[in-house]
Amino acid sequence: YEEIRLILGDQLNANHSWFREKNERCLYVIAEVKSETDYVKHHIQKVCAFFHAMETFAEALNHGGHHCLHLSLDETSDFEGFGDLIKHLVNKYQSKHFSYQLPDEIRLREQLAAIELRDISINRYSSEHFLLEEHELPDYFNPDKHNRMESFYRKMRKRFDVLMDEGGPEGGHWNFDKNNRNKLKQDELEDIPIPLLFANDVSQILKRLERHEIKTIGRAENYLIWPTSRQQALQLLDFFCEQCLSRFGYYQDAMTCQSEHKWSLYHSRLSFALNAKLLSPKQVINKAIEAYRSNDTIDIAQVEGFVRQILGWREFVRGIYWIHPDYRDYNYLNADRQLPHYFWTGDTKMRCMSEAISQSLDYAYAHHIQRLMITGNFCLLTEVDPEQVDEWYLGIYVDAIEWVEMPNTRGMSQFADGGIIATKPYAASANYVHKMSDYCSNCYYSQKEKTSPKACPLNSLYWRFLERNKETFRDNQRMGMIYNVWNKKSDDEKEAILNKAAGVLRVIDSL
Ligand code: FAD
Repeated sequence: YEEIRLILGDQLNANHSWFREKNERCLYVIAEVKSETDYVKHHIQKVCAFFHAMETFAEALNHGGHHCLHLSLDETSDFEGFGDLIKHLVNKYQSKHFSYQLPDEIRLREQLAAIELRDISINRYSSEHFLLEEHELPDYFNPDKHNRMESFYRKMRKRFDVLMDEGGPEGGHWNFDKNNRNKLKQDELEDIPIPLLFANDVSQILKRLERHEIKTIGRAENYLIWPTSRQQALQLLDFFCEQCLSRFGYYQDAMTCQSEHKWSLYHSRLSFALNAKLLSPKQVINKAIEAYRSNDTIDIAQVEGFVRQILGWREFVRGIYWIHPDYRDYNYLNADRQLPHYFWTGDTKMRCMSEAISQSLDYAYAHHIQRLMITGNFCLLTEVDPEQVDEWYLGIYVDAIEWVEMPNTRGMSQFADGGIIATKPYAASANYVHKMSDYCSNCYYSQKEKTSPKACPLNSLYWRFLERNKETFRDNQRMGMIYNVWNKKSDDEKEAILNKAAGVLRVIDSL
């Protein structure tokens, strides 16, 4: 083969221009490598999902008349990493060219950039996935300025002509967020759709992981529920548009512990398919808008809420990741506590935490508000080292890839970037959890109390967080009101709350 073309596990884009023509002299390579399984301890379903999707993609390429070599862990175990493997393949096939699509993660970009091949040309291509080309990012993001998601999103709506009406936003508003903060009522629980799940046989992959002693977290069965082919991803997209989109926005932030389908609710669960590039963001947005146009039960607030996540947030965090290459070092609030053990077991009396963590261990999935306002908020209030928080998030979720995980975790949820992403920290007491869920009414702790033995730990921790960071946040306009509430409390009450918080932190491992 004259040319070796490497396809990474998150580059399974069948519409890439590479595949427009069949080329007898070109060998595609898709490889399971150990270094990708252990740069962080991944959820076992995440590894299975990527490996199964890679294998399926390789089969599809061969079926379509391309030449694709799929290498399993068994076949790559003698190689150190991609560099070693590529050198071997280029030698074996006497190739003259090595090509790859630019990885979305700094780690892999560095690894591939370091590959040196004598007398071989190395060609780099775009992955042709995102709406914005990488070279356009500096036009949208300024590393020295605050880049706001809302203004970025409006630019994207205009540029790509999405939900626009004669130059303005369709429906008269750019943002329908205020319609999107509803709790699920008791009589609405039985309407939650039964999620569409797949049954991909990953038994051989599980055996391989065991054979190669790959350390993982969470649970897996022989049949994987996540979509691993473009066809399955499209089915899930159809299912979402038909069954979930009409209520997506309303219940986007809702949480419940009282339904069998409490983990999936009205969410699309498309993040793995999107991040592995089985689907393109444009395709998902178009499909949702098409559903909105042809279905009266879907209103603008629902579809706008969904489009904003993909056209707005997803492209935004990718821009932030590339424009701030030292993001991984940020620890603005100097947090340094250890992550408590129950992040690996779900074994805590705090109902919200045990729900969010257990479901993450069961499904490698939690929805946005669980990630941000339950586990994320807990880590923020208890000052867990962002390094450890990042590691947990990067490992546990099926969709976790650093370019999207890190700005969300370190930035949005931990405020470790000092406000590059969020205008204020997403800190909350039990009040918020109670407003958006039924967790508190099913909890050991009391949501209303602050200092009693059974008081919800979040309450005292919340005020402690504000007190400790008052120099940082007091002048933040969005925090003024809450500081007024704190300042009006008597010295005795403040002291009691802060003492309680100190006590909570002393026993953080047994909450
Ligand atoms: P839906 O609720 O159905 O949303 C639709 C799509 O919008 C998602 O599939 C996703 O592609 C996109 N989206 C929504 N919110 C965001 C966001 N904040 N940033 C980027 N894209 C978004 N998302 C990841 O894909 N990978 C991660 O590793 C990841 N880590 C996160 C860590 C934290 C602490 C937080 C707060 C959020 C994180 N997110 C991450 C964003 C978001 O929580 C997930 O994309 C979403 O929960 C995936 O589920 P879904 O497909 O059902 O999403």
